[in-house]
Amino acid sequence: MRIDAVDFFYLSMPEVTLEADGSQDALLVRVAGDNGVVGWGECEASPLTSIAAFVTPRSHGVCRPVADSVLGETIDGPEDITRITAQVQRNSMDLLQAAHTFSGVEMALWDLLGRTREQPAWSLLGYASSHGKQPYASMLFGETPEETRVNVLSAVERGFRAVKVGWEGFGAGHAASDADHLAAAREGLGDDGVLLVDAGQIWIEDVAAASERIESLEQNHVTWLEEPFLADSYKAYAQLAARGRTLRLAGGEGAHNARMALNLIDYGRIGYVQIDCGRIGGLGPAKQVADYAVGAGVVYVNHTFTSHLALSASLQPFAGLENHRICEYPAEPKQLAIDMTVNALRPDQNGLVFAPDAPGLGIEVSTAAIATYGVPVRIEVGGAEVFSSGPSVFA
Ligand SMILES: [Mg+2]
Repeated sequence: MRIDAVDFFYLSMPEVTLEADGSQDALLVRVAGDNGVVGWGECEASPLTSIAAFVTPRSHGVCRPVADSVLGETIDGPEDITRITAQVQRNSMDLLQAAHTFSGVEMALWDLLGRTREQPAWSLLGYASSHGKQPYASMLFGETPEETRVNVLSAVERGFRAVKVGWEGFGAGHAASDADHLAAAREGLGDDGVLLVDAGQIWIEDVAAASERIESLEQNHVTWLEEPFLADSYKAYAQLAARGRTLRLAGGEGAHNARMALNLIDYGRIGYVQIDCGRIGGLGPAKQVADYAVGAGVVYVNHTFTSHLALSASLQPFAGLENHRICEYPAEPKQLAIDMTVNALRPDQNGLVFAPDAPGLGIEVSTAAIATYGVPVRIEVGGAEVFSSGPSVFA
């Protein structure tokens, strides 16, 4: 089938705050084939710059708009998505936003292909079945240890047996204060729950500062310490990894291509690789990382903080890996992210979440949500319109 159209929809909450919460706005992508079928994807990045990367006039031969590598192309199988991915990488190599833009487009192509063939995306990726994952709730540390304990307890009361706490003041003050928060989190979760900690790159590259927390992290049986350093500080990652006895490092959400994630495995010595399909270039590069992780003895985990469309997409690349069991589950997204999809991936009676056994990504996008949260966008260059989300979209 031929790719006839790629449309972008910019959705936003009425107010976007400085909170580190990426579910406050969204960029939906709709891809239409000439067979009348459409597929949906979601970019996980600044929506307007991602639209611009699709339509911007070319700067030179390998700094071309993403549209040049996608529109009018044909897809008859997974190999065509791989081919188009390579075209984007070549033709837009100097356009840094291209990976983010194409992530949503690529996701929509798998959805389109799956719906056309009536096959789940995980099946198109080569898996025989979709295995259940244990969802963990992501939340912020409280201002006091008691607030941290109460936050974690609230997740337990909602049925979560795995919780990740992060950000806020963690890592920025004294190690003793962090230890108090970790003990409070463990108390709220109970002895048998899975406790994860996200440092949010707080120590930049300071291995000594991060090391001061190892003892309390291990005492409280924290399974992984996530993003202690900048996303590509491989040397610092490796040095810290060597100092832990039971503690493993996690990272990878900052990967804009498969190579960055593989470097984190090879040179950063992480134990868990966390991939966001809305950033890394879509399902194909994510599956490449999953395959590599299996060979390297590293556990693959999704990174998802927004909608259930993004959640389904990010579950697909490791759906068939039975022993890679933990998954990030958006626990407290903004209403926009909840309203964006008609259906959602709810845990089953055993508390497990599955990549759906349904064509494509198996998620229906809500056109009502597009009407409610949609922000009309028009981009003009030299007096000529190069992009418009169009009045018909919001009618
Ligand atoms: Mg994180």
